[in-house]
Amino acid sequence: MAAYDYDLFVIGGGSGGVRSGRLAASMGKKVAIAEEYRFGGTCVIRGCVPKKLFVYASQFHEHFEDAAGFGWTVGESRFDWKTLIANKDREITRLEGLYRKGLENAKAEIIESRAEIEGPHSVRILSTGKVVTAERILIAVGGSANHHPALPGHEHCITSNEAFHLETLPRSILIAGGGYIAVEFANIFHGLGVETTLIYRGKEILSRFDHDLRRGLHEAMEAKGIRILCEDLIEEVSLEADGRRRVRTKAHGELQVDTVMLALGRDPNTKGLGLEKAGVKTDGKGSIIVDQYSRTNVPSIFALGDVTDRIQLTPVAIHEAMCFIDTEYRGKPTSPDLDLIATAVFSQPEIGTVGLSEEAAAKAYPEIEVYRAQFRPMKATLSGRAEKMIMKLIVDAASRKVVGAHILGHDAGEMAQLLGITLKAGCTKDDFDRTMAVHPTAAEELVTMYSPSYRVVKGERIG
Ligand code: NDP
Repeated sequence: MAAYDYDLFVIGGGSGGVRSGRLAASMGKKVAIAEEYRFGGTCVIRGCVPKKLFVYASQFHEHFEDAAGFGWTVGESRFDWKTLIANKDREITRLEGLYRKGLENAKAEIIESRAEIEGPHSVRILSTGKVVTAERILIAVGGSANHHPALPGHEHCITSNEAFHLETLPRSILIAGGGYIAVEFANIFHGLGVETTLIYRGKEILSRFDHDLRRGLHEAMEAKGIRILCEDLIEEVSLEADGRRRVRTKAHGELQVDTVMLALGRDPNTKGLGLEKAGVKTDGKGSIIVDQYSRTNVPSIFALGDVTDRIQLTPVAIHEAMCFIDTEYRGKPTSPDLDLIATAVFSQPEIGTVGLSEEAAAKAYPEIEVYRAQFRPMKATLSGRAEKMIMKLIVDAASRKVVGAHILGHDAGEMAQLLGITLKAGCTKDDFDRTMAVHPTAAEELVTMYSPSYRVVKGERIG
């Protein structure tokens, strides 16, 4: 008789959990995977995927406007929120089905229930109360939106979770935060015709990005009509008799809006998970502490994805899952490579970036060269849209290596994916220079910036 009920018990059916469970099961391991809500996790159910569909929806009114310059007369257009929600829900259900099918095909046992840790090798399935045992337990329960309970009136606010299911499109919205979610949703709601205000506590939105992109995006968003209030905070939210929200801000007085959305980061879903019963260590935020092989301090318990608060990105969770499988089941100890992760912010214009910002590179290297181009993309010449694209390469002067690449403009995310390969391969600026341009594209600018715009030597800008 086997010592345990399962070889692997996975808690959480998101990107990292499903990938781990599916791969282990397809190798013949006896796997169970428990999910309390829907398979697919944050990315598929209430994150990247529905968000990107909303981004597409919100871009059409600019496409209609731009068409005139190319000779098109577009008839009267109207947007229907309910149609978008219904179509988005259908697509999410389809994707969820694919996730389940992958697990079923691999012969993993799907458990539709919350599961909690009972001990180093045991898990309680809440729907039945049954306690099962596993040689290894993998925690991949992700994170959830910070509801900011300290904020008076936070119960009158929504987070991105609810934004995907609003009954009606608000006429006005105030979004708090200056990170990925706040910026992306500000552009989405504005594009759908909602009067949009962003409130952020710092000096400039997107605190960890290159300053040129932060400033460039801020200006482009304001030019579209999004109001951005920096160095400000919401102090209180109250519900008015007419259902609107009255918001007291620290620096900009009172605002009245239909909806207030908080996008203030995400917290690990470890509350009530039973970690203390097995002695699994967490940090001050509740994130599970793991080593480079996703091992917790308890030898039979592993954790990956957002619950570990390494880098909260879907591809990172999937990569960590594949490393976990290599390490634990293929005899190839592999730790996730978290260096030079390309990423995109699906704002409008979009941001695509990989590597160090100018500021971070200036601290890391004694001398850097900055290649910077700002130009009007070709399409904007006939559409008449006042938009600028920014491209920036940061080069370590000593090694000639490109250590950062940053783009603001259409398809920046697509370009960032390819730039990610070049930086990962350690390409130098000379490699970029000897690469033939693809003409006419915006991306050709990346290989035709021959002279540095300026240098930064020991933190000081020269030129
Ligand atoms: P981020 O960490 O990107 O941003 C959180 C924002 O909230 C920051 O601007 C932060 O300010 C601010 N903030 C935090 N606490 C408070 C507070 N108490 N009062 C006021 N402001 C506060 O988190 P998001 O919620 O936007 O996104 C969560 C994660 O999801 C991201 O880190 C990202 O990894 C992932 N994501 C990725 C996307 C993509 O790849 N395109 C899209 C969406 C999400 P400050 O900057 O001053 O700290």
